[in-house]
Amino acid sequence: MRKLTLALLLCFSPCAVSDGLPDLGDASQIVLTPLQERQIGQQSMMEIRASKQFLDDAEINDYLNQLGSKLVENSAEPSLGFEFFAINDLTINAFAMPGGFIGVNSGLLLTVQSESELAAVLSHEIAHVTQHHLARMIAGQQNEGLVSMAALAVAILAARTSPQATEAAIASVQARAIQKQLDFTRANEQEADRIGLDLLQKSDFNIHAMPEFLERLQKATRLLDNNAPNYLRTHPITTDRVADIENRVQKQPYRLIPDSLDFQLVRTKLISSQKTAVDAIAYFSDALDSQKHGNPIAQRYGLVEALLRNNEVGRAAQELATLRKMAKSSPLSRNNPMIETLSGLVKQAENNPAMSLAFYRTAVQNFPQHRALIYDYTDLLIQNGQGEAAVKLLAAQITRHPSDTTLYDLQARAYAMQGKVLEQHQAQAYSYAWQGKLYAALEQLELAKQAGGSFYQLSTVESDLRELRGMLDARGKP
Ligand SMILES: [Zn+2]
Repeated sequence: MRKLTLALLLCFSPCAVSDGLPDLGDASQIVLTPLQERQIGQQSMMEIRASKQFLDDAEINDYLNQLGSKLVENSAEPSLGFEFFAINDLTINAFAMPGGFIGVNSGLLLTVQSESELAAVLSHEIAHVTQHHLARMIAGQQNEGLVSMAALAVAILAARTSPQATEAAIASVQARAIQKQLDFTRANEQEADRIGLDLLQKSDFNIHAMPEFLERLQKATRLLDNNAPNYLRTHPITTDRVADIENRVQKQPYRLIPDSLDFQLVRTKLISSQKTAVDAIAYFSDALDSQKHGNPIAQRYGLVEALLRNNEVGRAAQELATLRKMAKSSPLSRNNPMIETLSGLVKQAENNPAMSLAFYRTAVQNFPQHRALIYDYTDLLIQNGQGEAAVKLLAAQITRHPSDTTLYDLQARAYAMQGKVLEQHQAQAYSYAWQGKLYAALEQLELAKQAGGSFYQLSTVESDLRELRGMLDARGKP
C-alpha cells in the first residue's frame, strides 16, 4: 500500500517533465489532457506544501474540503478529485489551479461575512477548473515555447498566491512576460460567475451572497485606491460583471441560510491566530460578556483555545466544561469534532496520560475521519510507547490522504520507536517527496536500504529509488 502511495505521486510528476516538455500533439491544440492538468496541479501543490504560505491546519483544510465537495457534487466534474487548501496570507484572494486544486487565503476567510459568501467564491473557482480556463491559458503559453511545464506551474502558483512571490518566481523561470496573461479574461470571469451561481443554487446556499461579496470588495477597493485585493486582480471585476450577476439573482427569493458551526469555529480559530493569547482572551471574554452578536459557542471555543495557549489550564478546563454543556443543547453543535479536538488538548494539558488516552480512544471512534484528532492521538500514543497502535491508525489515514506529510512524519516517529529503521526512513522519504524535497527523500531511501529488511521491503525501496532518480533527472532538465 505504501508503494502504491508513492507510485501515485511519482506517476504524476515525472511524466509531466520527463523529456522537458510533454507531447501536446497538434501545435494548435489549445487544451491540455486531464492527466496533464492534474500533473501541473500536483507539481504546484508540492511547491505549496513546502512553502511557508501553506496553512498547515488539518481542521481548516478539512472544513474547506467538506464545503468544497458539497459544491463539487453538483458540478460538471463531480469525480475530478478536487483538493481545497488554505494559504496563510491576510490579503484577500482565492485561486484555482489546473486539475482541481483550489487555494483560499486566510484573508478571504476572515473577510467573508457568511458561509454562503465563502461558498460563492469557491463555486466561482470550481467553475474556472471545470471550464478548464487555466489549462487553456497554460496551453497557450506552452505553444509559445516559453518555459517547461514545471516552471510554468511554479510561476502560476506564485502569481495566483502573492504578487511579491510572483516577481521572484517568474524571474527565475525567465518568463516575466507571462505575468499579465495569467489573469483571467472577462469572458472567463462571466462564465465562472454564471456556472458558479448555478452551483451555489443547486447546493442550497444563498445565491445573493455572490453579488453582495463582490460589491463589498469593490467598495473596499475604492477606499483603498490603487491597493486592490489580489482577488480583484486575478479575477477582474467590472460594473458589468456585478450587474450581470445581480440580474440573474434578482428574480430569485432571498433565502437566509444559517452558517454551519464549523464555519464559525474555523473563523474563530483564524481570528485567534492573529492575536496574542492575552489579547485573544480579552477579545473572546468581551464578546461573551456583551452577548450582542456572534455565536456564543464559537466565542467560548476561542476563549478556551486562547486560555490553553496562555497556559491557564485550570480556567481552560472550566470554560471547556461550560462549552461542552452549551454545545450539547443543540443538535447543530452536539457532535462537533473540532470541539472534541480542543477537549483533547485540554485533557493533555491536564497531564493525565491515562485519562487522555481513554478520551482519544472514544473520540477517534466517534470521528474516525477528523485528521486533527488522529494527529494528536497518534502523537500521544507514540509518547506513551504505543507505536503499534499508532502505526495502525496512521495507515488507515494515509490511504485516505496520501499526500499528507504530517501523517508520514508521525509514521516515521512511530516506526523509529519500534526500531523499524527501514520503515522509518521510507516514511520520512515520502514526507519529503510530497514536499518536493527530492534530494532529502533520496537520502532517506538510501538510509532505508542500508538498514536492511526483507526481500520484499528492499525491493520496494529499490523501486522507489529508481522512480525518485527518474524525477530528479527530469527536474534537472531546463
Ligand atoms: Zn475568476
